[in-house]
Amino acid sequence: MENCLFCKIAAGIIPSSKVYEDERVLAFNDIDPQAPTHFLVIPKEHITGAGAITEENSGIVAYIFEVIAKIAKEKGIESYRVVTNYGEEAGQTVPHLHFHVLAGRNLGWPPG
Ligand code: AMP
Ligand code: ZN
Repeated sequence: MENCLFCKIAAGIIPSSKVYEDERVLAFNDIDPQAPTHFLVIPKEHITGAGAITEENSGIVAYIFEVIAKIAKEKGIESYRVVTNYGEEAGQTVPHLHFHVLAGRNLGWPPG
């Protein structure tokens, strides 16, 4: 999708600090980390966010969770939070589906 920041990162047009990559997904460190570990996992395919998940594209969500578990195991991260913001009020600033993975501090609950 034209002019989508995360599509450009997925295509390598804009550089990122890569954590994991395969043909379907990319994981990279958040530019403004909110915890000692804070990376984002995105599908390479453009999906605007959680509210655009359908029967046709939902498989990528399960795959992203597989990838998150694999990265966490490899990094020895035993406890983490996975967050996806959808829509302005929830705090979504980039309209391309992404999952925040946060770890390395007491994250507190409920979120602010
Ligand atoms: P959200 O606010 O949930 O849409 O999350 C977007 C996230 O993308 C924020 O945590 C930003 O810090 C992060 N972000 C924005 N631009 C970049 C970038 N160029 N590289 C890495 N992370 C970014
Ligand atoms: Zn996109």
